[in-house]
Amino acid sequence: MSTTIIQPDSPTGPLTSYRAAVVHEFGRPLTLDTVPAGGLTAGQVRVRVEATGLCHTDIHAAHGDWPVKPSPPFVPGHEGVGVVAELAADVTEVAVGDRVAMPWLGYACGHCDHCMSGWETLCLEQKNMGYSFDGTFGEYATAYARYVVKVPAGVDPFDAAPLTCAGVTTYKAVKVAGTRSSDLVAVFGVGGLGHLAIQYAAIAGGRVIAIDIHDDKLTLARELGAEFTINALEEDPIEAIQKLGGADQAIALAVAPKAFEQAYGSLRRGGTLVFVALPADNEVKLPIFETVLNGITIVGSIVGTRAELRDVFALHAAGKTTVIRETRPLADVNEAMADVEAGRVAARIVFTP
Ligand SMILES: [Zn+2]
Ligand SMILES: [Zn+2]
Repeated sequence: MSTTIIQPDSPTGPLTSYRAAVVHEFGRPLTLDTVPAGGLTAGQVRVRVEATGLCHTDIHAAHGDWPVKPSPPFVPGHEGVGVVAELAADVTEVAVGDRVAMPWLGYACGHCDHCMSGWETLCLEQKNMGYSFDGTFGEYATAYARYVVKVPAGVDPFDAAPLTCAGVTTYKAVKVAGTRSSDLVAVFGVGGLGHLAIQYAAIAGGRVIAIDIHDDKLTLARELGAEFTINALEEDPIEAIQKLGGADQAIALAVAPKAFEQAYGSLRRGGTLVFVALPADNEVKLPIFETVLNGITIVGSIVGTRAELRDVFALHAAGKTTVIRETRPLADVNEAMADVEAGRVAARIVFTP
C-alpha cells in the first residue's frame, strides 16, 4: 500500500475551499459549487476524496423525502473513500496518508447504552454523513476520526466506496436475519444493495432467491450466486417462493411498499422479514392474525457498525465478494440520480470528484 503523505493543498496553511455538489432546494438539481472548508474542530479529520458512491439515501436526501429532513444547503454523500489530508490536534485514531472510508454513521456519542453495547447505529446523538452534516460529494470531506474506518491494503477505493454503505448495510441485514447454512433467503431488489446481499447470504450458507423486475439484474444475481431468480412482473413471487417451501428469511431492499408485502408473503412459518429499504411512501399493510399464528419475526436493520465495516472490507480483501459498479464524474450527479431512480443502473455508481 502506498505510504505517500498527502499534504493539504496550500503549503502555507490548511485548505480554505473545495468543489462539492450541493443541494440548495429539495427536488431541484444539485449544483457544483466552491464551498468553504472551515476549520477542523476536536476529533475531526479532513479527507481528500478519491471515490464516493451514490446511495438511494442521497436521492431521498436531495428530495427531502423522509420525515426527518436535512437542512439545505448541504452536500450529500456517505460512501466516501479517500486519504486523510489534515487532522485536528487531538486526533490519534488515524494519521495523514491513511486511506479511510466515511460511512453514514458519521458520529455517535460513544457512551450511551446503545454505543456501549455495540449498537452505535442506534445512538440518539448520532450525526449522519451527508445528511446532518456535509458529506462526501466533493473534492474533500470533513469527518470524525473515531467513526472513519481504515480501508485495508488491496481493497480498491472504487470497490470500498459501495461497501461503505451498500456493503455494510446488507452484511448487517443478513446477520440480523440469522441466516444459517441451507436456509432459503429471498432478496427483494437486486440493485446496489441487493447484489451484495446475495453474496453475504451465500457466504453465510444460505440458498438465495433473487427477486427483481429487470431481467438484466436477475442475470447478474445468478452470476453472483443466486440459485433461483424471479421476475416479479412475470410471476407472483409469493406463489413461486411458497412452491419452493417458503423463505426462512426475506430481506426487503426494493424501495416499494409492495415488495415488502411480497417479502412477507414469501416467508415460511417461523420466518424472519428484515426491513432495510426506506421507500418515500412510508406504509406497509401486513396481517396480524397470520403474523401471530405463523410465528413471524419482523425486524428493522439500519446500516452497520465500524466493526462490521471492517468485516466487510476483510471479506473483500480475501476475494469473497464482487462489487458491481460504474465510475462517473461527480459533475454528472443529476443525471446519475435520474438513472438510479429509473432503474437504468446495474448496481452502483461511484463518482470521481
Ligand atoms: Zn447509503
Ligand atoms: Zn451513543
